[in-house]
Amino acid sequence: MREPATPPGIEGVAAPSGLMRAWGSLVDFCFPTLCPYCGQHEASGDSGSLFCPDCEANCAALAGRQCARCSASVGPHIDASAGCVHCRDERFAFEAACSLGPYREGLKSACLQAKMRSGHSMTVGLAQLLWRQRGHQIESWKPDLIVPVPHHWWERLRQFHLVPLNLAETLARKTHKPLRLDILRKTRRTEKQALLPVTKRRANLKGAFAVGGKADLGGASVLLVDDILTTGSTAHECEKTLKLAGAAEVYVAVIARASSR
Ligand SMILES: [Zn+2]
Ligand SMILES: [Zn+2]
Repeated sequence: MREPATPPGIEGVAAPSGLMRAWGSLVDFCFPTLCPYCGQHEASGDSGSLFCPDCEANCAALAGRQCARCSASVGPHIDASAGCVHCRDERFAFEAACSLGPYREGLKSACLQAKMRSGHSMTVGLAQLLWRQRGHQIESWKPDLIVPVPHHWWERLRQFHLVPLNLAETLARKTHKPLRLDILRKTRRTEKQALLPVTKRRANLKGAFAVGGKADLGGASVLLVDDILTTGSTAHECEKTLKLAGAAEVYVAVIARASSR
């Protein structure tokens, strides 16, 4: 594939000077970062996590064996290398997906907090945890580019911050791969997927995404990033669009896998 362009704001950013690092350390000492999940305990700075040890364990406890195709949780005796009961009858345009765990209990609560006005550090904390739990899987996919699921411009105005974008920024730093915001765009507003019956979700998104004018992915492997995967309709529609632009393979990384059943 051709070499992707250097992303603005990810590569090429000057490293902070020694003075700035010293100032950052002083601020951290005087105002220790509190865990975004409980808001009470200090983040476990030694491991680099934004969560305190208890909250990290709470979120990570749900990360178990997953279906290699759709990332749904599977039992220890199930061979899910080629799909599971949740995805065997589904046609996906993407190759495989991974998530931190199922959309329930502590992880559901964390995903809901991430969408709120003060949810930026929660989002970054979850992305870091996803990397610690599933980084080996993401690296095995050898992505060339990191692309967040885009929002329509009207939807962007109504959001406090864009969770898929914040997740993708963190994963771009972890993978040292370019974050590309110019490739995929949403061309029209759509009904909220969560408010629609499963049977209408694919129709709701049909034709809602397009590639940027000059995007030529030239056989690239793309990591598509979103917060929650439920029916896979959003990822499927994005992947179809990315492959029309020349992507050879598309993989999906999300924080949580919700059941559509
Ligand atoms: Zn905590
Ligand atoms: Zn599956």
